[in-house]
Amino acid sequence: MWKPPVRKTVMTMSNLLNTSSTPSAPADKMTHPDQLLLHMCCGPCAEYPLEQLRLQGYEVSGYFYNPNIHPQQEWETRLANVRRLAELKHLTVYENAEYREQQWRDYGCTARSGQCQICYALRMNAAAQFAAQQGFRQFTTSLLVSPYQNYEAIVRTARLAARRYGISFLEQDFRSGYRKGQEMAKADGLYRQKYCGCIFSLGETKPKYRDRYLESFGLDLADLPRRLTGQ
Ligand code: SF4
Repeated sequence: MWKPPVRKTVMTMSNLLNTSSTPSAPADKMTHPDQLLLHMCCGPCAEYPLEQLRLQGYEVSGYFYNPNIHPQQEWETRLANVRRLAELKHLTVYENAEYREQQWRDYGCTARSGQCQICYALRMNAAAQFAAQQGFRQFTTSLLVSPYQNYEAIVRTARLAARRYGISFLEQDFRSGYRKGQEMAKADGLYRQKYCGCIFSLGETKPKYRDRYLESFGLDLADLPRRLTGQ
């Protein structure tokens, strides 16, 4: 599996978004005309899109890049879940091991708004860049299955990222299959998380889930950003 080194950069909004200022040429000049790179936000959300894309004849490879999941223990659990799905479905998954949670938290604590837009841009730019480098002509994302995400913002952001790297973004509205995908994940024994991923979503999830998670992580309310607890 391909694993880039973790890059250490000073936190700014442009650094959060910057994966590369210019498109990279395909690493080996190969192209994959029928192949598609699926950015995977997590295992459960990837279930239904993967099934649908394969039914449509795409040869799908996965790409895991979600660097702001909090805490690292949860990031590791979700990555393990993606690996389990990959095994079950005979799916090649490329893992980007970059973890930038502290940068993300520093940014989010000061920005106070628009965090999901930045989060989408961060992930879609990395996915588009990686797809272009590896010779894929198109990519999409499992984020499009979730009714809890901002579908239009994801599509808009992903199209811009695709254009930046000279490839296409495949827009497919998978949301009608969200429940089915969750059932598939349950049947496959995948862990199904109760919050989106970042520390802000952990703090904003239902208190019964939030408190259970905090306890399992060895954290408490004081570990959440003040804006979430009012402390
Ligand atoms: S709530 Fe989800 S989409 Fe929004 S910033 Fe947090 S991890 Fe990203």
